[in-house]
Amino acid sequence: MTATPDFKLLIGGQLVAGDATMDVINPATEQTVAVCSRASKAQLDQAVAAAKAAFPAWAATSIDERRKALLAMADAIQGALPELSRLLTQEQGKPLQAAMGEVFGAAAFFRYFATLDLPAKTVQDDDKGRVEIRRKPLGVIGAIVPWNFPLILMAFKVPAALLAGNTIVLKPAATTPLSTLKIAELVKDLAPPGVLNVIADANDLGAAITGHPDIRKISFTGSTETGKRVMAGAADALKRVTLELGGNDAAIVLDDVDPVETAPKIFAAAFQNSGQVCIAAKRVYIHESIYDAMCDELGKLADAAVVGDGLEQGTEFGPLQNKAQFDKVLGYIEAGRRDGKVIAGGERAGDTGYFIRPTIVRDITDGSKLVDEEQFGPVLPLIKFSDAADAVARANASDYGLGGSIWAKDAERAWGLAAGMESGTVWINKHADLQPHLPFGGAKLSGVGSELGEEGLKEFTQVQVLNMAR
Ligand code: NAD
Repeated sequence: MTATPDFKLLIGGQLVAGDATMDVINPATEQTVAVCSRASKAQLDQAVAAAKAAFPAWAATSIDERRKALLAMADAIQGALPELSRLLTQEQGKPLQAAMGEVFGAAAFFRYFATLDLPAKTVQDDDKGRVEIRRKPLGVIGAIVPWNFPLILMAFKVPAALLAGNTIVLKPAATTPLSTLKIAELVKDLAPPGVLNVIADANDLGAAITGHPDIRKISFTGSTETGKRVMAGAADALKRVTLELGGNDAAIVLDDVDPVETAPKIFAAAFQNSGQVCIAAKRVYIHESIYDAMCDELGKLADAAVVGDGLEQGTEFGPLQNKAQFDKVLGYIEAGRRDGKVIAGGERAGDTGYFIRPTIVRDITDGSKLVDEEQFGPVLPLIKFSDAADAVARANASDYGLGGSIWAKDAERAWGLAAGMESGTVWINKHADLQPHLPFGGAKLSGVGSELGEEGLKEFTQVQVLNMAR
């Protein structure tokens, strides 16, 4: 017998039980948080059909009307901040304070997109003719989200797609669907039925979304491997794709920084969300003159970190989000032990929950899998360099190109080096600073296209030129 789910899908304006159910596990306790609806392929088809049916009327609404819907959704999300944050902590693992920040941030992203416009641009209007460039919505958008920031990453996509006049089928990750389904329940009457549909799967409907004939664009955030499958799946129908994929961000620390002042900032950039951040600092290149001092400072910070259940007061770092990622990160720690020297952390914390203490590995270099691959967890390799241009070249010698950073007292010198980094964003004296008005996207295998800002909004549109002779 199928259990009654605590969380339902949103299809065509109705909350419906999934054709199957699945347990969602709290990674801090390994206990079930809730029984969640799991959509069948038939329910995915219903969601797409509802979105397709809702599209013409939604596309014909005024942008003001769509803005109002986004603002109402922002209010609904923010109004449920305590409940949503708690749920997010329970399913994702992150500390409650961070979960509150994520919920608040998601609402803020809805508000940001409500400030944008998509005006037609007149390029000619004279006695010979009139030419206008317009931005039209695409149709049904398939939005696919991973488990590290379920709500913020949802809010990169949903408000932009809706503002442009598209309708959506949204799918959170299999291990973190609850807070997204809760939002679906909260906002279900704030746009016409079918405009926003939310389904949950057991990691088995992604390919069906990607290949669905009635979906016009896939907006995907996740790993590079899955991103390649998305692009291949979208090729037949020449669907538009925006792919936000993996990264292996380098932070380059020049010789003039103060290690005591800089280490905490790099530590935060690497270990926030227990390292499960696409734009975490994942390898740090440190000038030889300050290498030992930086290693010592980062080691001290790792030793002092409070790791625990995100619902407990004082917890700074939660568990890895799921067992597969936990096992994977332990493998990277083994590589670090083999190829370098572990000076802090290096082991699982406790017997229950997927906890790993922040781990610092020194005396390691390029060629180790801990340096060359994306660890996506709380283990940071520190690499020594002697020449800044060489450090930039080593940072660039990666298939990834999501973010990167240069740290220096002489910020002008850092600015000069930053332009040589092959990544979508380069920060100077900070890392992982995302803002809604700045386009965000990856170079090389880190992605295709961008999200956020006006550039991100435009990716949910088709250009149309109206060209009239007079
Ligand atoms: P993943 O690729 O395994 O899964 C992401 C989503 O894709 C999930 O919802 C999953 O169910 C779905 N999916 C699985 N198979 C699919 C298929 N064949 N077609 C379509 N969708 C499918 O990624 P993950 O492990 O959940 O997330 C971690 C990865 O995401 C890391 O590599 C990280 O760097 C990356 N990430 C990137 C960004 C960014 O903005 N660039 C942000 C966050 C995470």
